[in-house]
Parts: sequence; structure tokens; C-alpha cells
Amino acid sequence: MAELYLKNANVVDVRSKTIREGQCLLVKDGKYAECAEIPADAQVIDCNGKYVSPGLIDAHVHLVWDGRSPDPMTDTVVDGDFVSFARGVENALLTLKAGVTYTRDVGSCHDTAFPLAESINRGIVPGCRIIPCGGAIQGSYGHCPMIGTICDTEAELIAKIKQLKAMYVKHKIAGPHWIKIMASGGAAGLEDVGPCMYSPKELETIAYEAHRLNMKVAAHALSFDAISKCVEAGIDTIEHGAEMTPEILQHMKDHGQTWVPTLGVYKMLAESRGVVADIIVDKSEIVTIKQKASFAQAMEMGTNIIMGSDAGSANFGPHPSGLIEMLAMEDYGMPKDEVLWRATVHSAETLGIKNYGAIEPGFTADFVILNMNPLTEGVAAYMNGLEQVFKGGEPV
Ligand SMILES: [Zn+2]
Repeated sequence: MAELYLKNANVVDVRSKTIREGQCLLVKDGKYAECAEIPADAQVIDCNGKYVSPGLIDAHVHLVWDGRSPDPMTDTVVDGDFVSFARGVENALLTLKAGVTYTRDVGSCHDTAFPLAESINRGIVPGCRIIPCGGAIQGSYGHCPMIGTICDTEAELIAKIKQLKAMYVKHKIAGPHWIKIMASGGAAGLEDVGPCMYSPKELETIAYEAHRLNMKVAAHALSFDAISKCVEAGIDTIEHGAEMTPEILQHMKDHGQTWVPTLGVYKMLAESRGVVADIIVDKSEIVTIKQKASFAQAMEMGTNIIMGSDAGSANFGPHPSGLIEMLAMEDYGMPKDEVLWRATVHSAETLGIKNYGAIEPGFTADFVILNMNPLTEGVAAYMNGLEQVFKGGEPV
């Protein structure tokens, strides 16, 4: 691989939230190297007046779903796994092209995200990097059975978790390893949102078994019943989390647990009356009001938050949706430079992705060239000022 040399770059330091002006950047074997003289055979890019910023990390996507559809869940059943896989290929490329270079896929039909991640890692198809949680584990009375695996007993839960670990090995996904469970009903479904779908003992079994095998657990949880039981059981990330309370937020802070609020998707569903079913709009309106209040509270209390969009959800639009989510985070009062930090290196560190999400020696060179400053302009710089995307130092 030829070396890449960027000169006169305004490098965005997402940790310190400052710009390092007029820098040179050397990319060697896909990673940032200490900058010295320009290597003789290096490809040189003059970044004068441009900003070099890390690729974004979306911690909550569904690549087999097409968010342009009013019912992507049913589509996966009607279309079958092969077409769903092909859709995942298309969506992973769309995601990468927009500057979202790493994703955690938290639900795919028949564990399709595993072969998808492997195909991308092997260079068979181009696309964003993926942590493939596989099918979301859920009970018979669950949220999205079409992208899930039904496990009703503790024995079934333990067997499925072991099977998912084996999938990570089989598909040569180095890590980090995550699984996803559906702990409550959802807004985009016809089931009750309220009851926790697993008992505290079952949730503890899930957390124990996953952690024992060096995996972490993401839980879809909207209701107080589900969220409170999940955080007590030691689940690592709470997805959506509408009914947060100060006690839950404090518990999460004290135990190093993270909230992935997916604000944008509920905001959009709440504004989709006439396009999606009324029952979904009604539920989303309630979620949106609760989320907005909890988000402000979490920021004040210092509960950990990372960016996750739920890309692929009904009527959410084409992949990726991480930019829409960042816009919602800004809209709900988080400073723009903090949103960028939470959508890059902080997300990488929370998810356990080593050496991604920042422009530092030894880190993987997943970055974008922007003609706007993302620290001051926020996500608008990625939306309107994106000039080029690089993955592992290679132009996309
Ligand atoms: Zn989701």
C-alpha cells in the first residue's frame, strides 16, 4: 500500500476539541505514523484550508433494513436472507461514503451481519466496519422477531450466547464482541412497550454468560421496568431508554454503563403521522418527550452517552442516519464539539474498539476531509462540507 501524505491540514483533535493547524499527516499501512519528510513514493494531498477529522462511529444500526421503507421488518421476511444481505452490502457502502466508518449492527435477520462484516473485512465488498451483534435475542412476545432469535428459557439464552461467540470466531471478527437483547417492547411495533421481557434472573444470566465469554451486552429497553432491571443486571449499554430516572442515570454513571439514546429516530417517527401507523406515532410522541428531558438530565449528571442512530428503521430515510442523530443531540442541547467527541473516539473507547476514532499515531486512518470546521459548525460540516472519505488510509 502506497503511503499517504497530507500537508497543510487542519487536524481536528476530538479529545481536546481543538484544531491543530497546518499539520502534516503520514499514513503508513493504514495507520497514522509519526510525520517526517515526505516519502518519495507517497501520494500527497494538499489540505490547505481543509479540516481532517475522524470517521464517525454509529453504535446502533440495522444494515439489513432499508429506512426508506415504511416496514423494513416485514421486508426482511418477504425478501429473504439473500436479498437482505444484498441490502446490507448496499447500506454498508452508503454508510461509509457519508463518513460513518464504523458501526455496531444491533439486529439482523438470521445473523446476516456476521457474513456481511466478514465480506467487508476481507475486501470482497466495500463498506463501513461492523461489530455484528447478529440477531437480537428476545422472547416469544418480543419486539422485532424478524431480526431476532427467540430464546424463552435460560438454557436457550445460554446456548444462543455461546453460538454468537462461535459466530465471531467463525467469521474472524477480531473484536470487540457485542450481543443484543430486546428487553422491552418498542415504539415501532404493536406489542406493549411496558413489561420487561425477561426476569431479573434471566437478565443476570445473559450478562454473566456474555461477560464470561468476553462479550458485552446491548439491551433495547424503553420502559422503566426494563431499563431498571437491565442496569441492575449489569447490561452494558441501554438502547433508546425512554423512561430514565435520576436514580437509573446515577446507577449507570456509578457502574460504567452507557446510554445510546437514538433520539433522532423517535423524533422523526413522532413527526410521521399519516405515513406510519397511528399507534407507532402515538408511542413515539411519548418517547420523544421523555427522552428530551432525560437527555438533559444525563448531561447534567455526567452519565455516559454515545451516538447511535437506529439507521434502517421505518421511514427514517436511507443509510446512514448517524448524522441525523448527531443533529438531534445538538438540538437537545449538547455542545457541537462534544457531540463530535461522543460520535468518534469516545464511542470507540466505550465500545472497546482499540485505536479508532481519533487522529493520533498508531490509530487506524479512518478519516474525512471537510471544507468546514466540525468543532464550530458541528455535524453540518459532515453533512454539507464532506469532500473525501478514507478508510484505513484508502480513498473511498
Ligand atoms: Zn434498533
